[in-house]
Amino acid sequence: MLVSGKEILEVANKIGFAVPAFNAGSGQLLEGVMRACEELQSPVIIAIHPDELSFLTDSFVDQVKYYANHTKVPVCIHLDHGASFEQVIHAIHLGFTSVMIDASHLDYEDNIAISKKVVEAAHATGVSVEAELGTIGDTGDSIEGGVTEVIYTDPNVAEGFVKETGVDSLAIAIGTAHGLYPDYLDPKLRLDILDEIAEKVEIPLVLHGGSSNPDKEIASAVEKGINKINISSDIKIAFLDAMKEVLKNGGKELREPNTLFPECIEATKQVAMDKIKLFKSDNKVALYYK
Ligand SMILES: [Zn+2]
Repeated sequence: MLVSGKEILEVANKIGFAVPAFNAGSGQLLEGVMRACEELQSPVIIAIHPDELSFLTDSFVDQVKYYANHTKVPVCIHLDHGASFEQVIHAIHLGFTSVMIDASHLDYEDNIAISKKVVEAAHATGVSVEAELGTIGDTGDSIEGGVTEVIYTDPNVAEGFVKETGVDSLAIAIGTAHGLYPDYLDPKLRLDILDEIAEKVEIPLVLHGGSSNPDKEIASAVEKGINKINISSDIKIAFLDAMKEVLKNGGKELREPNTLFPECIEATKQVAMDKIKLFKSDNKVALYYK
């Protein structure tokens, strides 16, 4: 069932769990996460970053739509880190049901202006909008980018931002970073800031860079009001590790995709299932049919 971002997050916000947003950078990753969601009956956000979209080409969106239309699992097709009004409009035209406008690197006023403009256009077509306030760190060559240092979201500013822009969900910076953390960097979530934001902001809150934070921290972030968690690196690393094994053990005749990829898809599925359980989004599909 294809749903909007607002629809998929509303239930999570009400009940208190987080919907996983998996970056499906290929058809195989998509297959892996969809199998996990089917098996555990979890709603899912299929996140596609503009760089992923230009690699996969626009036709990939139809593939995601096909999955959405042939499953009872609620599926939202989400533009991850839309960088401009044009990118957002392109995504809406393709049939995305949710878009992120990431203007967090701009001045506060400019962030408000473009987020507002996107909300006006997106809401006119029933598409939901996520914006970002504060900046999420970046640990290396992740497609989402970011900054090397985190600028934490100011809870007071967040409240005003949501009111002024009318966004449906808000990505906040509380100490996560895109990509995997190097050994010398100890990721620490500022859960106290999350508490303050959750008290002031009623719309669903989003955590980016959720890969490789300790499970315990992620679990308490969910408890404290995070309703969407982006997972990109963790599923891609699982896929790649499985691929390395296949290549090592496969011999010289290895070439057919249908012999190369099944184990990689299975590895992706396993990691996705771990995340679903951690986010408490398992067995939630039935809630969307009441
Ligand atoms: Zn992100």
